[in-house]
Amino acid sequence: MKLVRACPVCDGRKAEFLLMMNFAAETNCILPAHHQIVACNKCGCIYNNVDARDELFENYYRNCAKYVSLGVGGAGELSIIDRIRYQSLLNFLSPFVSPQMTIADIGCGKGGWLRFLHENGFRQITGIEPSAGCVEIIRHQFQLEAICSDIKSLNSDRQFDLVILSNVLEHIFDLRTAVRKISGVVAPNGLIAIEVPDASRYASFPHAPYYYFDMEHINHFDLKSMKNVWFQAGFEVLAEEATTCFPVEGMENPICRLLVRKKEPPKSLSFPQSDTATYLRQYIEWSQKKAQTLPEAPENQQRFFLWGCGAYAKWFLQNKLSALPAGIVEINRRKVGRSVNGCPIISPEMLMAQNSEKEIIMISSVLYEQQICKQLKDLQWRGKILSACRPREEQEN
Ligand SMILES: [Zn+2]
Repeated sequence: MKLVRACPVCDGRKAEFLLMMNFAAETNCILPAHHQIVACNKCGCIYNNVDARDELFENYYRNCAKYVSLGVGGAGELSIIDRIRYQSLLNFLSPFVSPQMTIADIGCGKGGWLRFLHENGFRQITGIEPSAGCVEIIRHQFQLEAICSDIKSLNSDRQFDLVILSNVLEHIFDLRTAVRKISGVVAPNGLIAIEVPDASRYASFPHAPYYYFDMEHINHFDLKSMKNVWFQAGFEVLAEEATTCFPVEGMENPICRLLVRKKEPPKSLSFPQSDTATYLRQYIEWSQKKAQTLPEAPENQQRFFLWGCGAYAKWFLQNKLSALPAGIVEINRRKVGRSVNGCPIISPEMLMAQNSEKEIIMISSVLYEQQICKQLKDLQWRGKILSACRPREEQEN
């Protein structure tokens, strides 16, 4: 098949097509709306064959309002649920790290992991993050060191004993350049700890159709493909772990962790093939079946609203809904006033101005379904509540 993006791991130019993901287009959103999920013929890595350039993703994360706003999964906060994840990562690292080490957290968001390390006696810690809003929060609110930089602009004049890449590499378009830059800021014999979603176990925690294919996660690693990334950059594996984390309560997602140590780059390269595609096909099959059971629109062509304007909502809107909603509710205020496929994005207050028994709201966020449901009850929503994430027959209220 024709590739517009070479394999992020081995630079291979041939791949097998697995799935097409089309998302509804949001005004002002620069991320591409069409993603082909493919498996590299040479190394087996799964990635999004997406027509874009690295600068587009850099711009997106530099200006990413989403991660500055409160309560967004992966934004680097320090809630009880975040602490559990950080403690589990620290347990994984503890045989190899000590408080004397200089540590950089690349893609640190608002610095939750840095704060957690500080609480645990680590003092030489630095956050590196492209979003100026997040850097501001780390420096002024938490009095910790943070550098505003994207990975491509990293300067190897300053090196660290340990670099953390937690939920970062799955977002990177030009991975090979990023790995070279990151290697440059690791001291000789220094360590890198990597945490990424584990694509070989999506099928064990499926949640909702196509949940793991969004517009930001463009590389789908497992331990094998993650090792291929670091072997070729001259790193040896010290520890590895396939485990799970909870981005929000009750939502268990598969992740894998790798701890590698800097050595000499290898003289010759070979790529042990990963078989992630076999497992990914199971998840795609499950998604295809499950998607047929989802509601397509409320009965009797009644007017309805969606709540949730993330990747799942955009997939649902583009591929499932047979009628357009009257509005899409979103708590991120910067999005209010924009539109998706021509539907206006509105605030919860704008929705509540229409609160009545004849109105219908459909929750279109997999991750925050429970929270949104609770929020609607707290707001005393009188209309009907449906889910865009669960089969029609499971829904009563
Ligand atoms: Zn490859």
